[in-house]
Amino acid sequence: LVPAEIDSPESLLPRPPVVTIMGHVDHGKTSLLDAIRKTSVTSGEAGGITQHIGAYHVKTKRGDIVFLDTPGHEAFTAMRARGAQVTDLVVLVVAADDGVMEQTREAINHSKAAGVPILVAVNKIDKESANPDRVLQELASLGLQAETWGGDTVVGYVSAKTGQGLDELLELIALQAEILELKANPNKPARGRVVEAKLDKGRGPVATVLIQEGTLKQGDAFVCGVFAGRVRAFFNDQGKKVKEAGPSIPVEIQGFDGVPEAGEEFICLADEKAARRIAESRAIKQREKELAKQSRVTLETFLASTPNDSEAKVLNLVLKADVQGSLEAITDALVKLGTDKVRISVIHSGAGAITETDIMLAAASHAIILGFNVRPTAKVKEVAEREGVDIRFYDIIYKLVEEIKSAMAGMLAPVSKEVYLGQAEIRQTFSVPKIGVIAGCMVTDGKMQRNGGIRLLRDGVVVYTGKIASLRRVKDDVKEVAKGFECGIGLENFNDIKTADVLECFEMIEEAATLD
Ligand code: GDP
Repeated sequence: LVPAEIDSPESLLPRPPVVTIMGHVDHGKTSLLDAIRKTSVTSGEAGGITQHIGAYHVKTKRGDIVFLDTPGHEAFTAMRARGAQVTDLVVLVVAADDGVMEQTREAINHSKAAGVPILVAVNKIDKESANPDRVLQELASLGLQAETWGGDTVVGYVSAKTGQGLDELLELIALQAEILELKANPNKPARGRVVEAKLDKGRGPVATVLIQEGTLKQGDAFVCGVFAGRVRAFFNDQGKKVKEAGPSIPVEIQGFDGVPEAGEEFICLADEKAARRIAESRAIKQREKELAKQSRVTLETFLASTPNDSEAKVLNLVLKADVQGSLEAITDALVKLGTDKVRISVIHSGAGAITETDIMLAAASHAIILGFNVRPTAKVKEVAEREGVDIRFYDIIYKLVEEIKSAMAGMLAPVSKEVYLGQAEIRQTFSVPKIGVIAGCMVTDGKMQRNGGIRLLRDGVVVYTGKIASLRRVKDDVKEVAKGFECGIGLENFNDIKTADVLECFEMIEEAATLD
């Protein structure tokens, strides 16, 4: 909507690195952030009181560094899912006594998936049980070979408790940042990302924005998500009012007319009217989306609605099944279910996968889609969600008919309901002697879960339903693999696996059925 201009190379000037601290729980992420903040306060301006605004700025002998205050890879990846890539460098904290743990591996994978370089901080070296060599060994086995061992991973040794090694760590970070040659054009209207936002009792909505390019000035007009306004005032991480903020600098801004979401883009524009127009058109789009969700017709809302006295209610259905034979059997059974009060009308049926066209048809006709032995692609699901179309899936004709029947009778029995977990695309297949065929996959939506159920889809049609026999990431057996990662999957008693097939993972839960 508001494309960024392209900067000439001469206009780009060095900017400080933005660092996120990651690592396993209890390895000292928070302690390290606090310890770094304290060293910077004593060496920084006198009288400054540190404010937790979501990010802070440290001055070192080698240059400035900005730390994001929310440690961990969950927040990092949540921001990224909203298109906000703000981190230049990850500091991976590994406790010297504990070594590499599950979340250490996750943090490495999340950083790698984002293409962000990793610097290791071996923490808790004050402890008697500290074993930094073992940490280096474990990291090397995950592809992070320390510089001292001939690799290119920079490693610092610290104690967040005693402060030992902190200055050296900051120096290593600054050095690493120099190598990255981080630059931005400070001489234009500011653009940045919301790191944190809240409604403050006294001050109204405030948001911490990390400026990524340009320079922020008081009075600048801006748009941020569905909000627009003028920058009334802004403050640094010492709680001091500032007049200007350039690239990489976090500031807390007042002047919002609502609380924006973390990860939202913040854009300054020369013209306040243009900013308001953009915000308004975004707000209208958002409202339309919400309305579409409210007007969503589900089987239950349809049946619960009051019928028109003189006429029967008509339940419109779109039916998709794997083969023609099942279509006919289901249609026959369904039409018989019709009563004086509720007539059943199959407005479209066909063999094959559910398509976007089916969704549009259902949306336009307030119909419900019944899928038999077929599954939607992630894209189709997204369209159904957007259009507010209810899709129900079955693999036993009897169950499908029973559910519609009992729904019509207003007595839904407790049902075991399927919860969708994710999809993966098969990119390669491997024949493993004695084991069978393993699918080399990329998880494209949600996650794959070891103990979940699994279906193999070929062109949207179910060719196998069963269990995962093995789930591996690189060489390790794992419990789950998230979107954006590769994995190997073996299916129980099934080897007819082809490239371009899709695997869908699901889970069954017991749920009391309701009519609302
Ligand atoms: P986080 O979960 O990664 O944020 O870890 P915390 O910062 O909360 O630290 C977990 C525990 O380890 C706390 O009890 C800290 O006091 C302790 N801790 C953190 N850093 C050190 C350190 O360098 N040395 C020692 N001995 N303990 C530490």
